[in-house]
Amino acid sequence: MEKHSFYSEKELEKEAQRLYEKLKKTHFSLDECKERAALTLEINRIKKEKNAVILAHSYQTPDIIYGVADFVGDSLELSRQAAKTKAEIIVFAGVKFMAETAKILSPKKTVLLPSVQAGCSLSESITAEDVKKMKKQFPNVPVVCYINTSAEVKAECDACCTSANALQVVESFDSDKVIFLPDELMAQNIQNQTKKKIISWKGLCVVHKEFKAKDIEETKKRFSGVKILVHTECSPSVVTLADFSGGTSGMINYAKTHLDESFMMVTECGLSDRMKVELPEKNFVGTCELCPFMKKNNLELILQVLKEPREEQIIEVPKEIRIKAKKAIDRMIKTKNLSD
Ligand code: SF4
Repeated sequence: MEKHSFYSEKELEKEAQRLYEKLKKTHFSLDECKERAALTLEINRIKKEKNAVILAHSYQTPDIIYGVADFVGDSLELSRQAAKTKAEIIVFAGVKFMAETAKILSPKKTVLLPSVQAGCSLSESITAEDVKKMKKQFPNVPVVCYINTSAEVKAECDACCTSANALQVVESFDSDKVIFLPDELMAQNIQNQTKKKIISWKGLCVVHKEFKAKDIEETKKRFSGVKILVHTECSPSVVTLADFSGGTSGMINYAKTHLDESFMMVTECGLSDRMKVELPEKNFVGTCELCPFMKKNNLELILQVLKEPREEQIIEVPKEIRIKAKKAIDRMIKTKNLSD
């Protein structure tokens, strides 16, 4: 790791201790915190100097979340923070569609994405052309897209939704059919809860598709009384075994507000790490999966993008796309149940 020699030994030691206090509940050792101390000090210094904020998704690594992030949350919470902040520069430690949503809601701010490789298998499964073709094939059928889509795809849709309000957004249309894209498994989960006919796309989240009902059954056998919290990007066979299913914020709220001692967070590993830090009195058990896209960001890239962003790290959304996509996002925001 790059060293920043202008910090004294005392400053570095203090920072390493600050990090370790937070990260010791996760897989980080004190030595790893020492390695990162110069980076987090430098990022936090430049942030102030440049009037920047760092927004981090819950799936980012704990050194980003507890070392340098100003806000942590799901994509919608972070976009709302992006719109509210007085900072001129937003570093979005997440994936590209999230940074684009932040730019759509805050067009005057500079939005930076540390890793240009931070995509998303759902977002990349569909293009605006694909949506246009679907609209031709199913004329007058409303189109709802999950927030995990590109700005161009959102611009072709009637409404956007999160995992918290997907069902409510679908139900808000006065039509017996709704196109729901791009997540095929989430579409099946919605189909199980609505009388409307759901026409789906073939997108899958590479993380959530991996969970199988047998993982849940094994965890239930091993940890008596464990509560199973499942993200709705998982298959219906997994969702039906859940004590709660929803998005990341709904899962966090459940763990925070229920008195049970053990939970399995059936989602990306970052969420269990976050819970281990924030709810140290509870146990987070079972398996999790890593998102290869979310993990493209790291402290070195955050420092680089803050210091001197390359053109491809600066998120731009053409005005025409932005205005159309914002309409779909506004309908999502107006539809209730956004607590997730
Ligand atoms: S966890 Fe799945 S939905 Fe989220 S960014 Fe990764 S691939 Fe996309």
